[in-house]
Amino acid sequence: MADYIVRATAADNQIRAFAATTRDLVEKARSVHNTSPVATAALGRLLTAGAMMGTMMKGEKDILTLQIKAGGPINGITVTADSKANVKGYVGKPDVMLPPNAKGKLDVAGAVGVGLLQVIKDMGLKEPYVGQTVLQTSEIAEDLTYYFATSEQVPSSVGLGVLMEHDNTVKQAGGFIIQLMPFTDDAVIDALEKKLSEVTSVTSMLDAGDTPEMILDKLLGDFGVQITDKVPTSFCCNCTKHRVEKAIISIGKKDIQEMIDDEKPIEVNCHFCNTNYEFSVEELKQILKKSK
Ligand SMILES: [Zn+2]
Repeated sequence: MADYIVRATAADNQIRAFAATTRDLVEKARSVHNTSPVATAALGRLLTAGAMMGTMMKGEKDILTLQIKAGGPINGITVTADSKANVKGYVGKPDVMLPPNAKGKLDVAGAVGVGLLQVIKDMGLKEPYVGQTVLQTSEIAEDLTYYFATSEQVPSSVGLGVLMEHDNTVKQAGGFIIQLMPFTDDAVIDALEKKLSEVTSVTSMLDAGDTPEMILDKLLGDFGVQITDKVPTSFCCNCTKHRVEKAIISIGKKDIQEMIDDEKPIEVNCHFCNTNYEFSVEELKQILKKSK
């Protein structure tokens, strides 16, 4: 099953919902960053949320960034998505290892630690939208639920999960976001809360063979769920040697001259996809000519 997101409405548009299967993109993130299991789970959850939240944006060129700045050993997580659900991201310390938590699960909260969640939406306006909330549990899904309620005033339920294989590759990954519109009837809210309290984890549903459509049907079938859209999603970085060259040009003549004086090729790493770009001394000399 290739990765995709479905969007849906239910209860006569009083509910809007998203569900995603993201195994391939989380596995891609794991392999390019060589993340430990707990880092894979943390990054995978935020990538899954980012992909779904990216599709909430309207503009072709809109960019969403989710940033966790916290004191745990993973040293922060950054995820960026566009409105077509192309997503990329990285963690500060990909090889973080922690013992399992009290439930015997990967200790994402322990790895992330106490801190802040920042949501930045660049919609081509003068200033980007920035929402910032304090992490509630550092398990990521609950932190996003809190963000939606307090920063966007949209009551939401967020479920995110990453399940690992014994060989530490990704077995399943996915998530859902269910949001209530301001005019939602109390009866709908009560019934939905009851329904959500009955659900098992999103990864157990995916592992049992449920598709995103089936997950939404399980959660919202009683509310007349209607799938409105299906969007492919993938881990995708738009870096190129040309873009990296532009970045080097921007650091200025003096620093570039110093690199040339070292008489060694330089290597520039893209944090998002961990690709290394090498520039020879000869290339640096060409770059110097283009620099101001
Ligand atoms: Zn890249």
